[in-house]
Amino acid sequence: MFNARMKPHGGIRPYSHKSLTREIAIRPLATPRRLIIPLRQHTGPAAVPIVAEGESVAAGQLIAEARERMSAPVHSALSGVVTSVTTGDQGCITIKVSDQQSPAPRLTAAEGLSETQTMLSLIEQAGIVGMGGAMFPAADKIRMSLRYPIETLIVNGGECEPYLTTDDRLMREQAEFIIGGIRYLQTITQARQVYIGIEDNKTEAIARLDELCRQEDHIEVVILPSLYPIGSAKQMIEAVTGRQIPQNRRSTEMGVLVQNVGTCIAIFHAIRFGKPVTHRVITVSGRAIEQPGNLLVPIGTPIKEIIGQCGGLKTQPARMVLGGPMMGRAVDDLDVPINKGTSGLLLLTGDELPQTKPSACLRCGRCLDACPMSLAPLSLFAELKNDGFAKAQQQGLNACLLCGSCAYVCPAALPLTQFFDWGQQQLRLLKRQEDKMERTRQNSANRQARLAKEAAAKAAALAAKPARRSRRAATTPEDPSC
Ligand code: SF4
Ligand code: SF4
Repeated sequence: MFNARMKPHGGIRPYSHKSLTREIAIRPLATPRRLIIPLRQHTGPAAVPIVAEGESVAAGQLIAEARERMSAPVHSALSGVVTSVTTGDQGCITIKVSDQQSPAPRLTAAEGLSETQTMLSLIEQAGIVGMGGAMFPAADKIRMSLRYPIETLIVNGGECEPYLTTDDRLMREQAEFIIGGIRYLQTITQARQVYIGIEDNKTEAIARLDELCRQEDHIEVVILPSLYPIGSAKQMIEAVTGRQIPQNRRSTEMGVLVQNVGTCIAIFHAIRFGKPVTHRVITVSGRAIEQPGNLLVPIGTPIKEIIGQCGGLKTQPARMVLGGPMMGRAVDDLDVPINKGTSGLLLLTGDELPQTKPSACLRCGRCLDACPMSLAPLSLFAELKNDGFAKAQQQGLNACLLCGSCAYVCPAALPLTQFFDWGQQQLRLLKRQEDKMERTRQNSANRQARLAKEAAAKAAALAAKPARRSRRAATTPEDPSC
């Protein structure tokens, strides 16, 4: 065990609010009556349903297939009957849960695969995505990392967002499964050294994992400062290894693979027991909920059901958030379901929210000190306000993590993160339009080239005809009857 090698750039120390749930052990949610299971719970294209309305499904059964790269299969958490199926990015499969639960068969890999291929196949079939919220399909991420020699595996136990205590509880209660997942990842990647990065405000988790690591070769706990957003991959790498990943490079190119503690547990269950991802642990917190806690929830459970099983609301929340308060998503519909990347459900009162009356920029520079990516938020904001997308891109808009640190410290309460989110969306849109125009230009150029080639071939054929005729005329003997 050792302390972080360096303090990463920027970062803030928001009030943690973790005491609301930190000491509450994980408990399973009672079986919900209905699941609304999204088809897109990962970064890539939506999975494609393979069940129809009226069909019965077993717990753990595959219900939607991944047919493209960066997609991930989806399984039903519980037995029941499919009541509706919609497709596409917003599509979902709704299941009326049965009283009797029957499990689907375990996942198995095809015969004849190598050990590494077998493990990757099980990770892929299990539909594992980054459980810390990134939702990048784990099998794709590991396969991409294998293009480079991976020397270091970092297991991310940062959990720096206020309120969330999911990973803290997992590290305290399921540390053996984390070590089990790490061993499989070591076998796949051949990483020589593994570090488990944990913030210094999680003392029990540090002690538990350190105890287990003493029996392991090449696995060490690294104590990190409690600093937001140290749980983001680049900050974690900087703190643990002392190396900075340049803005335009991936960490795997530099020989480092980062996986969240929850993802390690899912990998352990997939390989050891053939279990797909059907449940996840979430923190339910905020001053508006009666009984905050950490719950094991079937994926697809609507938040209404969870609120009901946490004693209901003390007061009407001013905001409901899926995830943490810094990078989570505000929702207002009680039917929104939990997905594979949901780490928390926050029911926040008005007192827990920042006061938001924006004024003009004071040019105080606090946002510069807070930015973990060394960006200049005030300048990015000024460019985006004037539609200066190209200039904002040159200044590194795409490297922005949307972490909200700049907005948190801004005394002018400027909506910096919303602007950067919008700016990144506009850049993606512009890129798609440019790609489309480039494809159209390329298609048109190819067509012109094909037409020119055909015309040349035709002209050559025409030019060849008189010559043939004249050759024929020259070689045809004269008709003696003429
Ligand atoms: S923190 Fe806010 S007020 Fe201060 S320089 Fe940055 S944008 Fe301006
Ligand atoms: S939201 Fe973007 S610009 Fe603001 S601190 Fe985070 S990374 Fe920097």
